[in-house]
Amino acid sequence: MKEPLRTPTGTLRDDTIVAISTSLGEAGIGIVRLSGPDAFAITDRLFHPIDGKAFTPAFNRRLRYGWILDGDERVDEVLVSYMRGPHTYTAEDVTEINAHGGAMCVQRILACALEAGARLAERGEFTRRAFLNGRIDLPQAEAVMDLIDAKTEAAQKQAVQQLSGALSAQINDLKTAMLHLLSHVEYAINFMEDAEEDLPVAPMIEENKAILKHVDALLKDAHSGRLIREGVATVIIGRPNVGKSSLLNALLRRERAIVTDIPGTTRDAIEESYQLGGIPLRLIDTAGIRDTEDVVESIGVHISRQQLAEADLVLALLDGARDFTDEDENLLEEMGEKPAIILLNKEDLPVSESMREARQRWENKKPTIPWISISAKEQTGLEALKDAMLNCIFHGAMPDHTALLSNVRHIDRLKKAQHALQDALQAFEQGVMLDALEVDLRGAYGELAELTGEKVEENVLDKIFQDFCVGK
Ligand code: GDP
Repeated sequence: MKEPLRTPTGTLRDDTIVAISTSLGEAGIGIVRLSGPDAFAITDRLFHPIDGKAFTPAFNRRLRYGWILDGDERVDEVLVSYMRGPHTYTAEDVTEINAHGGAMCVQRILACALEAGARLAERGEFTRRAFLNGRIDLPQAEAVMDLIDAKTEAAQKQAVQQLSGALSAQINDLKTAMLHLLSHVEYAINFMEDAEEDLPVAPMIEENKAILKHVDALLKDAHSGRLIREGVATVIIGRPNVGKSSLLNALLRRERAIVTDIPGTTRDAIEESYQLGGIPLRLIDTAGIRDTEDVVESIGVHISRQQLAEADLVLALLDGARDFTDEDENLLEEMGEKPAIILLNKEDLPVSESMREARQRWENKKPTIPWISISAKEQTGLEALKDAMLNCIFHGAMPDHTALLSNVRHIDRLKKAQHALQDALQAFEQGVMLDALEVDLRGAYGELAELTGEKVEENVLDKIFQDFCVGK
């Protein structure tokens, strides 16, 4: 066994990390990546370039061809890139070993690198190092994860925008403006409060208002941003046999849910990914919500209620051919104030009189909830339904661009900053002592500093990076 170049210490950044950065499935290539002070030295222990030459700066950022050896045994034929920090992904020395895909080659190369003194990277540690070494800020690090997770083009565009620093630039502008305002306030506190002349409050109020306006504008599209990033949780409710599974199948155009004539057969919620105009939707067919004695079914009902509570959009399905029942009424009541669409299914059959009456009554009672006639079986009315869904999700204003804010952490921070700024403005206008409102302004600044990661607790970082995969 070779002598390790150094003992992995586990401490951040003075050790060298390694991970398989590509997925382990069948593929043409797989990449093992190393980062840290000994990345080059460790790689040199495994990699034997075909030209036999030792690394020189001339090889920086060039691909070198050769073999990975485990002792005398050839493990794989590879291409290796050596990238000298700080202009690398992590801002440290990085090597990437391009091996053959599939699990075995990369796993054996990983084992060789570990034996030669590298430490297995933690989740997201490459990106975390990029952040800790100051190459990117926190929203950019988070964008890496969003980019990998993106299920639609809109989500991908939004993540790229954040990765390129568009959000960070806006937040940094806000931070600069706040520091400017704070310096005025502090100057007034230190030099003017004892003076005879009036404090020049009016320009400070204007500055505060301008900052608040910018914050409001950023938050305006945040809801759409979040939906594009996370997907719209769309819950289908309706009593048994109204056609929920059929609707799901019609939208997905393939047999997924089991369509049966027995009430209450769709016991577990079924979730499907669906794209609507580039927007990711999570279509959730619930078990049905009704009072039941059946233990298994009542678990389903409980889950359905939870899903309804968390829904961004509700599709309430009624069987137009049957009588409108108390159970239907209760279901519609369960929707509360959620964005919702009521679907009158089975339009291929005659509509019952009680259903007509119910529609009229509900249209008067809740005029904002649209009613749409469809047939899940004959696949009619679905285009109108899709339009209504987009309308409902984005409150009639479908965003023609992707929003800057999309991550709940960012939205929370900015909302807190907004409140602090509102408090400060109120204090200015009521002539409260400047020392008191300085606290609000500092608080608002602190929220933005946490958003960009300028000032952030270790446990917040842990929480962010624990969702990453190991090689990222
Ligand atoms: P679920 O229990 O709400 O999921 O209902 P299903 O999707 O299993 O449908 C129950 C029954 O209604 C099945 O026999 C379907 O074929 C039938 N069905 C669903 N949609 C329509 C429709 O638009 N028109 C007609 N005539 N029958 C439908």
